[in-house]
Amino acid sequence: MTKKVLFLMSDTGGGHRAAAEAIRDAMIERYGSDHIQAELVDVYRNMRFPANTMPEFYPWIIHNGKWLWSLAYRSSDNPRSARLTSRLTYRYNRGKLRRMVAQHPADVVVCVHSVTAQPCMTAYQSFPQRPPFVTVVTDLVSTPIFWYDSRVDRCLVPTQAAYDRGLKYGLTPEQMRIIGLPVHINFQRALIPKSEARALLGWDATLPTLLMVAGGDGMGPLFETTKAIVERGLRCQIAVVTGRNKAQKALLDEAIKTWDHPSPIHVFGFIKNMPQLMAASDMIVTKAGPGTIMEACIAGLPIILSDRVPGQEDGNIDFVVDHGIGVFAPKPEMVVATVEQWLAEGVERLHQRGERAKSVSHPDAVWQIADEVWHYAHQPPIPRRLYRRKWLQR
Ligand code: UDP
Repeated sequence: MTKKVLFLMSDTGGGHRAAAEAIRDAMIERYGSDHIQAELVDVYRNMRFPANTMPEFYPWIIHNGKWLWSLAYRSSDNPRSARLTSRLTYRYNRGKLRRMVAQHPADVVVCVHSVTAQPCMTAYQSFPQRPPFVTVVTDLVSTPIFWYDSRVDRCLVPTQAAYDRGLKYGLTPEQMRIIGLPVHINFQRALIPKSEARALLGWDATLPTLLMVAGGDGMGPLFETTKAIVERGLRCQIAVVTGRNKAQKALLDEAIKTWDHPSPIHVFGFIKNMPQLMAASDMIVTKAGPGTIMEACIAGLPIILSDRVPGQEDGNIDFVVDHGIGVFAPKPEMVVATVEQWLAEGVERLHQRGERAKSVSHPDAVWQIADEVWHYAHQPPIPRRLYRRKWLQR
């Protein structure tokens, strides 16, 4: 029998869609495309103005008003504010959210987006019965409180720290399970040997290679950091991925025509072959996005974190630094100094860092998450009399 799986996500950044697609494709591969009918729904797009512009507003605010984002994160990072924000979001969007629920019938709902999880759950609980609701937390350590709605049937988390926060905010050990972050099944499969990946990409086969990314939206000082590395004249090949940020790409495309760099520089917009680029590289400079960090770990790449979304990505820095798989270098000159030091230390030392990164990765997490969702897809709808009522505790 076919099971309808509804993924609640948003194209704010690239991580939510990547997580949803990873779980969907693992389920299809494991249980067959005849048995899974999956839909990805951008929750913000289903809300009223201005929330429906969030996919455009999010990269803009991260570029232009990071402090404001940080303030919003910190002021909502307590149960009272989170509850109030979620309630107001629901009240303002009640009609739209209820329509979204009615228009997308499902056997199981999988939420991979923090801020919309509670308003969506409230929308579901406004009906006489609802499908099982599974949250897959896609932040590593400093997980926003919004993730933790004690009404959910299952909450799958990537780390012990994320689990402990769940306990603190009212979820029970029975509701939660530590699994890992979902990374696409094809990611690991596409990790071909470095020489092959470089040949396919047409990159220099011998030079140490630095991959630079900044999330799906190409946020932060990618241009400035690349420029600083070029000006230092480091002997390394550079690949820069600007994601959906067309302005950064145009700027870099123009600049590399005039830069006098001793080694090749390759500039890309939004790419679909991240594993190939990671396989071809020796180290990565990235914003502290959880998806990219986990992919880099699976690919065995030492990590230089050059930027972060304040608040929600702060804990990702601790994750990288505490596991000894990279450093936080929040200024272009700090990135340059680290790259220079790592190049001077030599390939063997880089390789050791990369092996440590591999040891903290969980490439199989996505299969376990797929099994959990499949299990809940077979549970009967939950009638109103069994709804849990408490959203957030303490
Ligand atoms: N990504 C991609 N192509 C690009 C840039 C990024 O496929 O050109 C993917 C990347 O591999 C990762 C996700 O987008 O899976 C970014 O997620 P992350 O959590 O690192 O950051 P976010 O974009 O959500 O802030």
